[in-house]
Amino acid sequence: MPKSLNYKDIAELRGKIDLIDNQIVELMIGRHEVSEKIISLKKSAEYDVFDKSREKEIIRELTFKYGDKLSVDEIKAMFNVILKYSKLRHNSLNEIAEASSVRDVLCYKPFIIAGPCTVESDEQMEKTVSGLAELGIRLLRGGTFKPRTSPDTFQGLGAEGIKILRKYAEKYNMFTVTEVLDEKQLLEHYDDIDVIQIGSRNMTNFSFLNQVGKITTRDKKPVILKRGYGSTLNEFVEAGRYITQFGNENVILCLRGIRTFEQIDSNMRNTPDLGAISELKDKSDLNIIFDPSHATGVSKYVIDISKAAVTLGADGLLIEAHHNPAEALIDGKQTITPADLTDLITFIKQRF
Ligand code: PEP
Ligand code: MN
Repeated sequence: MPKSLNYKDIAELRGKIDLIDNQIVELMIGRHEVSEKIISLKKSAEYDVFDKSREKEIIRELTFKYGDKLSVDEIKAMFNVILKYSKLRHNSLNEIAEASSVRDVLCYKPFIIAGPCTVESDEQMEKTVSGLAELGIRLLRGGTFKPRTSPDTFQGLGAEGIKILRKYAEKYNMFTVTEVLDEKQLLEHYDDIDVIQIGSRNMTNFSFLNQVGKITTRDKKPVILKRGYGSTLNEFVEAGRYITQFGNENVILCLRGIRTFEQIDSNMRNTPDLGAISELKDKSDLNIIFDPSHATGVSKYVIDISKAAVTLGADGLLIEAHHNPAEALIDGKQTITPADLTDLITFIKQRF
């Protein structure tokens, strides 16, 4: 027989809990108001709205001060939620459209970076980029220095391609994301690249990673580092540290599929390393994005794998899109059209 409950005491204690809960919500409302004031001050001074190092500092200070009364995990979880919702209040389409710096755009999570595998022509870019812009996408990918398997295949338009990429990014109010293969290319085109991409094949080029880290220290330009297709997660995390060690913490780790025994008879170009999204969150504080195009190599799987990636907590997606994938000069098989993204965008809007 259970003992009888002391309803009076429980009711009294519940009253106290209700009071505390009310206070928590009131405090949250007050916090949002103050944070909105900070955002509008930053905006009028044309500063980046979001500041990841400040977010980390808040959590660090609180865990230092209260870590003996509440568990560190609890404080972290609590503030990750508070900070997430503080940002989400600004996550309307209009806000994204108005964000004036690439680092701000990267704070509207999960974000979509889309564009062709490679820049081919004015006509291709006009048709593709106009379609992406209509969907509200602000981050435009487009390779121009292509790390091709065979030297006999199209190597990309190089410097000319960067100019075309920049032209259409400007025309449609977007930011450029493109790969460079070495330090010389990076320095020559630095101002035309808003987000630097380092490809899978360069993940273990440590002297280049060092250079990227040093060069980007001053302006903290975002850098996407793609996972080497034969690299372990720890090797990937350490490669990211080659760049961040000089002070640029705006490094984004991009999972893009790995080569496994599945490739013996799978239709997929790689094995989508989706589980790594969960594990990387424990191993690194950096943003993690997923490239479903290279991970699968097959266009019909791109949207489903994208949904899985954002559901697992990916901060963004890097997707190959072309107005006519059948005509794409590189990677057409894994490329989707801008219109194919509509379903994914609706999914993201409803869920996040
Ligand atoms: C790319 O994204 O254009 C690319 C070449 O991908 P990866 O480096 O992952 O092969
Ligand atoms: Mn490609």
